[in-house]
Amino acid sequence: MATAPRSGTSADGTGRPVAHNAVSAAPPAHVPVQSDNGSARCLAEKPTAPPPREEAAVVVVPVATRQESDLFATPASESLIPKTGSKAEKLKHIELLVKKCEQCSLCRGRTQAVFGVGNPDADLMFVGEAPGREEDLQGEPFVGRAGQLLNKIIEEERSLGMKRADVRITNVVRCRPPENRQPSPEEVTVCRPYLLAEIEVVKPKIICALGTTAVRGLTGSTDPLSRIRGTFFLWKGFLVIPTFHPAYLLRNPEEKRKAWEDVKKIREKLASLRSGGG
Ligand code: SF4
Repeated sequence: MATAPRSGTSADGTGRPVAHNAVSAAPPAHVPVQSDNGSARCLAEKPTAPPPREEAAVVVVPVATRQESDLFATPASESLIPKTGSKAEKLKHIELLVKKCEQCSLCRGRTQAVFGVGNPDADLMFVGEAPGREEDLQGEPFVGRAGQLLNKIIEEERSLGMKRADVRITNVVRCRPPENRQPSPEEVTVCRPYLLAEIEVVKPKIICALGTTAVRGLTGSTDPLSRIRGTFFLWKGFLVIPTFHPAYLLRNPEEKRKAWEDVKKIREKLASLRSGGG
């Protein structure tokens, strides 16, 4: 169970200051999030009664429709992806757009915009919140203390037993918010097409959303992290599993055991998917 956030701090316990209009609900109505068409099947354990409409932002579609579905290709993200080229070339193109992007005010305080890193063909993608100080300076996501913990999660043999270069690591927002505050819904919304485009190119088998901002920024879900953490659900044909942000785990080490349980589920699901199972 996640610790209740302090007033004025990030809901996932990262300790980051919250923007004046910080993420406390689903992205605004103009966010390119599709509504649930009712035909989808969610893998997560859900109550039989449908949730109130404002809580139904998580989009679920059957995996079988993934290839032919155009739900993912919102006009904004689709236009970012070159029609030809390898995955690496397409990602490089998107990265160059990100590096010169000035679509929100976060560009004014950045040293550099920080795009995703890792395997362009990764089966597993980690999505975090936004660059911090170290990330802003080095131009790479998750290179500070939280990044070191993420590396342990990825690389330790009893954990995922992978290499950092094997997975994809990215954020919902590409420029460092001032004083490491939580990105506002507007900033997440404006930056979101880059994330959608990156996911669309990589097509990971599993997306691990790190913390509340990542879950909300990615899927629009307003479910509390404490309720959906460690549970796989389908979003636009992609398997998503939310877990704690590593920065939260640094501040709340007693929660690491739950995070390891989530990681174990990822490891087992990856093995199953790679062997042709579900
Ligand atoms: S945060 Fe995203 S939308 Fe805003 S300037 Fe940076 S890259 Fe552009």
